[in-house]
Amino acid sequence: MGIQALETTDILIIGAGPAGSVAASYLQRAGVQVTVVERTQFPRIVVGESLLPRSMDHFEEAGLLDALIAQGFEKKPGARFIRGNEICIFDFSQKFGTGWDWTWQAPRADFDYTLSQELLKIGVDLRFKHEVKAVDIQEDAALVSLTNDNGEPYQIKAKFLIDCSGYGRVLPKMLGLDTPSKLSPHSAIFSHVKDSNRPEGVEGTQISFDILETEVWLWVIPFSNGNTSLGIVAPTDYINKLSEDQDTRKALERAIQKSDYYINRFGDTTFLFEPIHLKNYSAAVSAMYGSNYALTGNSAEFLDPVFSSGVCFATESGLLAAKLAAKQLKGEAVDWKVSYQDYMERGIAVFTTYVKEWYTGNLQTLFFHQPENKDVKDRICAILAGYVWNEENNFVTKHHNIVKNMAHLIALQNETKM
Ligand SMILES: Cc1cc2nc3c(=O)[nH]c(=O)nc-3n(C[C@H](O)[C@H](O)[C@H](O)COP(=O)(O)OP(=O)(O)OC[C@H]3O[C@@H](n4cnc5c(N)ncnc54)[C@H](O)[C@@H]3O)c2cc1C
Repeated sequence: MGIQALETTDILIIGAGPAGSVAASYLQRAGVQVTVVERTQFPRIVVGESLLPRSMDHFEEAGLLDALIAQGFEKKPGARFIRGNEICIFDFSQKFGTGWDWTWQAPRADFDYTLSQELLKIGVDLRFKHEVKAVDIQEDAALVSLTNDNGEPYQIKAKFLIDCSGYGRVLPKMLGLDTPSKLSPHSAIFSHVKDSNRPEGVEGTQISFDILETEVWLWVIPFSNGNTSLGIVAPTDYINKLSEDQDTRKALERAIQKSDYYINRFGDTTFLFEPIHLKNYSAAVSAMYGSNYALTGNSAEFLDPVFSSGVCFATESGLLAAKLAAKQLKGEAVDWKVSYQDYMERGIAVFTTYVKEWYTGNLQTLFFHQPENKDVKDRICAILAGYVWNEENNFVTKHHNIVKNMAHLIALQNETKM
């Protein structure tokens, strides 16, 4: 074997999704030497098109907000949940506490491409079609083996490595950090359609989650380009049954047929790309950092799409990891356990409870309860906006019991009324 070229950098980022982009933009603007390697050529299709307001804080701090605003993506001021004839709309401007009142629902191919172009504009060394093949964590550096856009091998020695490889899960696989998710296995099938029957006004652009059964729901995410993302999410057994003839196109068509609300709008639709089947998507890790590396975004943890928390976790962890790594490079002491892993795990724990309580049906009981309790709704709304670290919100601090207890109370009330 010939001698491979060896380069050096201060911080190497694997992956140019939302986690990698906010990390790279922050570091470049802070004057830190940073290299980003991305195995695909953007634009590329990826799921995760409904964002949370909390991410706007991260895009702003990373200096990426203006470039995104210029794209005119569809604004998302809240979210609608549908269960038969019952409707529950969350309006982010009504949420408990402070923070952004809106965000975007956007095709991620365009969204992530915009981020990557901004990185190139500010001079980030971003390399498309460069793929990480192996990682050797050494005492004072990370030695990373890659292939370049011609398929040729080379190596980069980095003082610090930030893994933003999302579904690639580079470090969890290479360092044996993968652990089973605490959530039961769920899967999804999604595609985009040309939304030719889109109604005028808010109805046409409203992002919606149509509950077909307690654990089965359809997402409808309209984009400003006239297309809409449609996806079905359910326990893996249910999705397997829906697609038992291995035909994901038919499976998604069958799912749409089950929606009384959307059958007229999407019943005879054609998909813009072959529907993508994402199996058992939840993922977790045993550790989110080491002496000279950190895991972010989906590489670290992915729960469930129901509250659109994925990109928010990616940008929260990407930005925080970048800040801490920059500090460490300056020779300052960083307590990664307290400042990174414990912090991220607090937010993950809150969302985990809400995801679990969604699938038990308890959260749905609260969402659709009438008459509405405005204070309860506004506090839950803050969580759905991604503000899961706000300890002034008792729906954050008491997340373990509050939803369950309130749902049981409502059930008792209903029993005594009968
Ligand atoms: C069914 C489903 C629906 C979802 N819906 C939503 C939603 O509505 N809203 C939401 O916020 N989230 C959603 N998500 C989650 C969302 O897709 C992710 O959380 C988000 O994309 C994570 O961002 P990231 O930056 O960590 O990784 P990614 O966006 O996956 O980016 C990682 C990048 O790393 C690159 N990479 C991977 N391996 C390598 C390698 N070896 N070398 C170099 N580069 C590499 C990849 O090519 C990729 O571009 C959904 C997830 C699922 C499964």
